[in-house]
Amino acid sequence: MSEKSKTSAGRHLTKVVGDAYMDLHARAAQGAFVVWIAINVPAELFLGFENVVYGVPESHAALNAAKGVGVLQCEKAEQMGYSMDLCSYARIDIGSESDGGKDSPTFGLPKPDLLVSDNNNCSLLVKWFDVHHRRMGVPHFIIDVPFCYEPQKEKDRKYIIQQFKDLIRTIEEMSGQKFNMDKAMAAVSNTNEGIAHWKRFLSFAQCRPSGITAFDSFVQMAPFLVARGTPQFVEHYKLLVRETEQRVQEGKFPVPDEKYRLFWDNIAPWHQLRKMSSGLAKLGANIVGATYTSCIGTVEGSFDLFSYDGGDPLEYCARTQNCYMCPHGMKLRGKSMQAVVEELNVDGVVFASNRSCKPYSVTQLDQQKLMTDQFGVPSVMIDVDHADARKYSEESTFTRLEALLEQIEAKRAA
Ligand code: SF4
Repeated sequence: MSEKSKTSAGRHLTKVVGDAYMDLHARAAQGAFVVWIAINVPAELFLGFENVVYGVPESHAALNAAKGVGVLQCEKAEQMGYSMDLCSYARIDIGSESDGGKDSPTFGLPKPDLLVSDNNNCSLLVKWFDVHHRRMGVPHFIIDVPFCYEPQKEKDRKYIIQQFKDLIRTIEEMSGQKFNMDKAMAAVSNTNEGIAHWKRFLSFAQCRPSGITAFDSFVQMAPFLVARGTPQFVEHYKLLVRETEQRVQEGKFPVPDEKYRLFWDNIAPWHQLRKMSSGLAKLGANIVGATYTSCIGTVEGSFDLFSYDGGDPLEYCARTQNCYMCPHGMKLRGKSMQAVVEELNVDGVVFASNRSCKPYSVTQLDQQKLMTDQFGVPSVMIDVDHADARKYSEESTFTRLEALLEQIEAKRAA
């Protein structure tokens, strides 16, 4: 999409992401303490320091995939001996780091002083960050987050908070900077406010036709990964809501002749966003929501906003550690999905089986059975890797998607 044809929120998104990467490189060059973090490590903690900046390898990998260089970066890692079965985010990141970010749209990430991973989404992340630890000789801090087959227990929360305190102490010792709890609190407040706007943006999917597509929401997730905790983060989502609301009021919908409302389960197919959304729109179908985007700012078993109460920011960060879907047990995952499918009046679910993200995909067959048998929602399983375009067939995917639309028609006729 050209800059000219973009909405204001689209242009602002480009600016927020571009500024974030430029600022990261510039501050690193001027001597800021640089941390590479896993997606779920609370970035707000780093905003509690005067001069600590962070980069998110998973987010950087997604950007590479969306900009069409995912396969190129994967191949570099494969030439180093990493298996094609390994998570494509990990391959992209390792490949990009191997030559200093030569082909990356952001010139890679600046060299870190500290690596911080966690194991709540998947244990692969820990091994992946260990590769960097060995290659660059940089310390690796691991946050151990218990899985949540039920709502988080008090003792687990305390265990996580203790590790946050250890992390803060580690950064203080390594960087010589002092942590400021008030700054972290302000960052958490900004995150909370921005996510409230994000939830409002997602709620435009309740309109008929839907005011958004899940593909819009995939793209609009980026500030959550590069700018959360900042005033720019709040401003961006405020603008996005304002603009979306106006478009809905003016009767401008992404799929005006919407006949089928679908729901997506798994990571975004970064290399197929435009092609898949336009292919579906031609069939009168819109993917109106996704587990991937709905879980931001929530706690397990619900996609409702978990609001910050203005108290201890470490408590809030610990409580929301399990917001993503991967660590949820079958019951919690099914519960939240059923609620959102009902709320959005969804006709069918697209389970995007993704062999390179096993944690997200491993329970999908059971989830599919649950949606069909227990809740009577037609569904289909497609194969698509989130970032490696070689592991995707447009033809077979659309054959299956069309079969889903036929199932929906058959259900309507009955
Ligand atoms: S395997 Fe999945 S959850 Fe783990 S790092 Fe890769 S994309 Fe993330």
